[in-house]
Amino acid sequence: MEFDLTWLLLGLPLAFILGWLASRFDLRQLRAENRSAPKAYFKGLNYLLNEQQDQAIDAFIEAVQNDPDTSELHFALGNLFRRRGEYDRAVRVHEHLLSRGDLSRSDRERAQHALALDFLKAGLLDRAEDALQRLEGTPFEAQARLALLAIYERSRDWAQASAIAEKMHAADQGDYSGRQAHYLCEQAQALLSQGQHDAASRLLDAAIEAAPQAARPRIDRARLYQMQGQPAQTLQALEDLCEHAPNALPLATGLLLDAARQTGRTDTARQWLEAHYERTASLDVLDALVQLDTMETDTGPGRERYVTHLSRERSLVAATRWLAGERLEREALHPPVQQALEHASKPLTRYRCAACGFEARQHFWQCPGCQSWDSYPARRVEEL
Ligand SMILES: [Zn+2]
Repeated sequence: MEFDLTWLLLGLPLAFILGWLASRFDLRQLRAENRSAPKAYFKGLNYLLNEQQDQAIDAFIEAVQNDPDTSELHFALGNLFRRRGEYDRAVRVHEHLLSRGDLSRSDRERAQHALALDFLKAGLLDRAEDALQRLEGTPFEAQARLALLAIYERSRDWAQASAIAEKMHAADQGDYSGRQAHYLCEQAQALLSQGQHDAASRLLDAAIEAAPQAARPRIDRARLYQMQGQPAQTLQALEDLCEHAPNALPLATGLLLDAARQTGRTDTARQWLEAHYERTASLDVLDALVQLDTMETDTGPGRERYVTHLSRERSLVAATRWLAGERLEREALHPPVQQALEHASKPLTRYRCAACGFEARQHFWQCPGCQSWDSYPARRVEEL
């Protein structure tokens, strides 16, 4: 007991002295290291201040070789160059970082991500694609996939876009079912232009399955049936459209009228159109109803529908269309009046992107202005 106590009394100050010595030693070593590293920093900083950026990078690269802990400085430098639009310099910094053998895994992934951003910003899409693909399995995976998706959309590489969307969907990185349906429809369109109807048909079925509420696959499916001379199936596909995406019916009225005429089921078509019109007084549906009425004489109100429509909506388009078919008392004056009205109402029959306001005469699934999907409502400018 006495022996132990003596050792304890002696041991405590000894441990203290040893600890103090060790700390002194560490500090001295640290100072020696820091003395060599700052030299390269200051050199680099001096170059940077003198606008000699290439020499500055060389000096910083030298600094990083001496001290592996300076990777932060390089990230900062690389980002700075990218933001200034000096992409080749940013690439150089990040490639140098990546070439280092002693970089930690997380820093390597970060540098790879930064390099991909450099290529993206520089518009070097091939190299960006390659750099982004290397980010699979890293914390930057979701971001990289989104960027890849944008690249594939821009280059209209729908098969690749579809593969990425599927991966993101499977990994719970967002709901990409709507986009997936578009990618499949785009591929189907490409196949159709090559005359491959069966393969296109399979893709459209897959698109319907991927996004049952999406309008486009059902409309494209109906159009394909019509192309193949199967009007009964066209009607069936359009009935499904009315059930799953009723707002899109105005986009498919032409198809509906053709198929109804061929199958002799104009009454069914009229029912669907009237039900839709009752809910939303759509100009396209109104036009289709007038066509149906006038197609078979003595059925339905015909062109009177335009006048009835005016009591519901103050529509210049409907008024112009009504007037076009009227015989006026002073007939000679009709053409100039008609032309003026048509000129005034034409811009009202355009479609407008809800995201960016871009107007177009035809309906687009992807806006040519801002690249948004499904941003065009199935309604004309006058109805918005
Ligand atoms: Zn747009």
